[in-house]
Amino acid sequence: MPSFVNPDKCDGCKALDKTACQYICPNDLMVLDKEKMKAYNREPEMCWECYNCVKICPTQAVDVRGYADFVPMGASVVPMRSTDSIMWTVKFRNGQIKRFKFPIRTTPEGQAQPAGGWETTATLDDATLFTEPASLGLPAVWTK
Ligand code: SF4
Ligand code: SF4
Repeated sequence: MPSFVNPDKCDGCKALDKTACQYICPNDLMVLDKEKMKAYNREPEMCWECYNCVKICPTQAVDVRGYADFVPMGASVVPMRSTDSIMWTVKFRNGQIKRFKFPIRTTPEGQAQPAGGWETTATLDDATLFTEPASLGLPAVWTK
């Protein structure tokens, strides 16, 4: 089910040029009502529930009613990001709360390791994947 904004929590990203949810949505669905300074999902039927807006919102104002294969019906799932991890808080219908914390980076925030730490001599013409054979733990990969 599509994302929706809780207007009580949304602060319009404090009137920045472009709000975080507008910036991140791959379908360009989030818009800001500049009079009320509240964002909303303008075409819910086009939302593919990617959770980008949910995860990036600094005030946890965006929510999704998850399908039962993701979370028990009626529960809410709220993420809280930090520089190196994300904490998901699941609140069940009976009031029970569970939290799950996962690492989200292997490098410090703002940095990336272009080759992911793998040594490679691969070229674009190679039939093997960029990290192979090292990532398979093999001396070589059989190709035709
Ligand atoms: Fe509101 Fe969150 Fe969107 Fe910012 S990212 S405009 S706080 S819903
Ligand atoms: Fe856009 Fe994804 Fe948020 Fe839907 S869940 S509004 S597709 S960012």
